[in-house]
Amino acid sequence: MKFSDNTTQSAEYLRQAIPLMVKYNIPPNPLNYALWYTYVSKKVPSLNYKIDQTLDTYGTCPSLLGEQLFREHVISDDLTDSEDTKKQLLALTNTLTEQVDHAAEHTSYYGSVLEDSLVELNNSEGSPQLSNIISRLAENTASITESTHLFQQQIMEAQAEIIALKEELKRTRLDARMDPLTGLFNRRVFDTELEQVTGSNNHAKATLIMIDIDHFKDFNDEYGHLMGDKVLQYFGKLLKAECQEPILPVRFGGEEFAILLIGKEKEEAAVLAENLRKKIQAIRIKQKKSGKVISSITASFGISQWVQAETAEQMIERADQALYLAKESGRNQVQTAA
Ligand code: GH3
Ligand code: MG
Ligand code: MG
Repeated sequence: MKFSDNTTQSAEYLRQAIPLMVKYNIPPNPLNYALWYTYVSKKVPSLNYKIDQTLDTYGTCPSLLGEQLFREHVISDDLTDSEDTKKQLLALTNTLTEQVDHAAEHTSYYGSVLEDSLVELNNSEGSPQLSNIISRLAENTASITESTHLFQQQIMEAQAEIIALKEELKRTRLDARMDPLTGLFNRRVFDTELEQVTGSNNHAKATLIMIDIDHFKDFNDEYGHLMGDKVLQYFGKLLKAECQEPILPVRFGGEEFAILLIGKEKEEAAVLAENLRKKIQAIRIKQKKSGKVISSITASFGISQWVQAETAEQMIERADQALYLAKESGRNQVQTAA
């Protein structure tokens, strides 16, 4: 979408957007300004519908969801444009390379024809004047051939640069928020989302599940670190498969995972945790070397539901205490904080 409002109108939209962002505890970053500016302008009805729905459910607009709405409803046209532009640019450099290739071939052919003519002329003892002219032509042709090659090289470099930049952009977008081993979002994403929910004074509901693999140090000692990594990767796949949006699973650090359930009560979280516990207990891994089947992987779970005015740290602390209780009570179980 294009922002073509005049100054008075833009100022008015911003005047309306800011109190709303404060009310729903929306982080004041440029993306959110654009999102809420568009919301109050009511120019994209589908966006207003989605945001209203989200606010009804969560009492706020979780960052990841906000980003998705921004992409889908505010800049979708521009994104397609820029993708198209990139494609066109690549197509253009491709065509240019082909054309320059052609030109280079022709000039070098022309150059060799001139060279041959010169030799022939010299052999036939023809006019020295004519010989001079052809000689100059041949020199010029050689210099044209050289500059064409240079141009050709420059285009190829530009093309490689476009491709590399595209790749780099893709990588940095992924890297900053992803845990490379498990493919889950990392702690940073979790912190942002949790801060937003706990900072909200709109009766948002949220529950947290902390997960810690049981006796993982022993597992590593017995089967090796690489096998341990495989288990962590498996956890990543399992959590992704079992947690549908907006339930957010992350690698909290090491062999610990966290799941943030915005808009959910602790009872629902307990059902999910119990389901995960059973699936983890059922994991069977065959060790390649010995052929031995490992069946001893379990994890413990601690749950806390956010209570009004509690900070993110306090909520994590309560989930941690429940997790500690699960460990103390024999591991491989789910405990919920009161
Ligand atoms: P508990 O049941 O009390 O949680 O015991 P534990 O052994 O799991 O707990 P502890 O905190 O003593 O050890 C955690 C282990 O997790 C130690 C560390 O080697 C392992 N670990 C952490 N990150 C990774 C990782 O990225 N890969 C592998 N393979 N192991 C990891
Ligand atoms: Mg641990
Ligand atoms: Mg552990």
